[in-house]
Amino acid sequence: MNPDNIRIVLVNTTHPGNIGGVARAMKNMGLRRLYLVEPRDYPNEQAVWRAASATDVLEAAVVVPTLSEAIGDCQFIVGTSARERRIPWPLMDARQCAQRMALASGQEQVAVLFGREDRGLTNDELKVCNLHLNIPTSQDYSSLNLAMAVQIVAYELRMLAVAGDGPATGADDWDAPFATQDNMERFYTHLEQALVDIEFLDPAAPRQLMSRLRRLYSRVRLDEMELNILRGILTETQKWVRRGSDRES
Ligand code: SAH
Repeated sequence: MNPDNIRIVLVNTTHPGNIGGVARAMKNMGLRRLYLVEPRDYPNEQAVWRAASATDVLEAAVVVPTLSEAIGDCQFIVGTSARERRIPWPLMDARQCAQRMALASGQEQVAVLFGREDRGLTNDELKVCNLHLNIPTSQDYSSLNLAMAVQIVAYELRMLAVAGDGPATGADDWDAPFATQDNMERFYTHLEQALVDIEFLDPAAPRQLMSRLRRLYSRVRLDEMELNILRGILTETQKWVRRGSDRES
């Protein structure tokens, strides 16, 4: 994902305060590129005031007279809408759509369009979009404040940026290295022998037991420390079994 390839496009915004609120929401979530298509009242002090420490995003905003000038070089365009339109279009919620945008942003220019406070985006504007994004709301009131809608979309993108390419518990933020395949194989051999020793596993009729246990441990992904603990438990268990059978003989 490349946040610098994702731009937020505000179409015909009426209230300058909303533009400032959008700049702040963007900077909080690591987005920088703001396009303003024919804003009604801009520049304006209220925008600066609402932007707080995101005036840099505001100052770098590109003001253009038409939508096509804001998105001409984009390969992937998303239109946001509070309502379902008459023409059905591929429609996603913010979470699903953020995944598509994040993926596209690796190679492509991505734009997310936000409409007017009173009327949203027109049908013609929505038709230039590859996808429509709707933030699920209460049926009683589906229209969010413009800056808050941007905040939610930007947050979903942020969550993907933070997760990076791997799982949230990647090797970088873990206190022990994940077990190597070789060590896992040694563990499975040890586990199988211990299960035979305690007569849980019958080598004559093993069924699917070892496959199921492999699936369990690979789902968890053991680290080296956890692996050593389990091997220690197996060794001690085997000692106990041996002591018991020594007493019997
Ligand atoms: N009455 C307008 C609402 C405009 S709200 C309409 O029906 O579209 C201003 C902008 O905020 C919208 O154009 C859209 O970009 C965004 N927005 C507001 N609520 C949203 C929602 N539930 N899902 C997606 N975008 C929303």
